[in-house]
Amino acid sequence: MGYALAQAAAEAGARVILVSGPVALSVPPGCERLSAQSAQQMHDAVMQRISEVDIFIGCAAVSDYRPAVCEDQKIKKTDSDKLTLTLIKNPDILGDVGALADPPFTLGFAAETQQIKQYAQRKLAAKKLDMIAANDVSKQNIGFNSDNNALSVYWETGEAVLPVADKLHLARQLIELVAEKYKEK
Ligand code: C5P
Repeated sequence: MGYALAQAAAEAGARVILVSGPVALSVPPGCERLSAQSAQQMHDAVMQRISEVDIFIGCAAVSDYRPAVCEDQKIKKTDSDKLTLTLIKNPDILGDVGALADPPFTLGFAAETQQIKQYAQRKLAAKKLDMIAANDVSKQNIGFNSDNNALSVYWETGEAVLPVADKLHLARQLIELVAEKYKEK
C-alpha cells in the first residue's frame, strides 16, 4: 500500500520521499527512496527529513517490539524445553511525528480485526493524527499479501468508505482525500 501511495502522490504532483523497509518492489517514478532495515533506522530516516515535508503518511507495518539482543551466531539448542526471548519496544514513528511541536499533516493506518471504527478513532486521537485509514485484516483477499484492499477513513469531523479496489486505485482516492483535507486545514 505504501508503494501505491507513493506512486499516487507523485502522479498528483507531490515530491515524494519513500522511506521503505526491505521489499522487492521497484521505486515508483519520481520518488526518492530511503532504505531502512529496522524500525530504529526507519525512525531515524523519517526524523532526519520530517522538517521538509507538508504531509506525512505512516503506512509501514512496523513491528512494535524487537529482540533485546541480536546474536551474531546461531542460538544453539540446550537441554531446556523452553527458550525465552526478551523483546523491547520499538519507537512509534507515527506517534513521534504526531507529537512534534509543529507536525506535518499526518495520515496513519490501522489494521484491525474487530471494532474497526472505535479502535481507529482511538488511534487517531492518541497519536494526534489528522486522518487514519483503517482496514479489516480479518477479511480474506484484502490487505496483507493481496493486490486489493478496502479502507474506512476517519478524521476528527467525518469519515469516508473506500470500497474494495486494487491498491493503486485505492491509493489515488486516498491521496485525493488527503489533499482535500490538507487544503481545508
Ligand atoms: O498502534 P498501531 O501500531 O496499530 O498503529 C499503526 C500505525 O502506526 C501505522 O500507521 C504504522 O505505520 C504506525 N507505526 C509506527 N511505528 C511503530 C508501529 C506502528 O509508525 N513502531
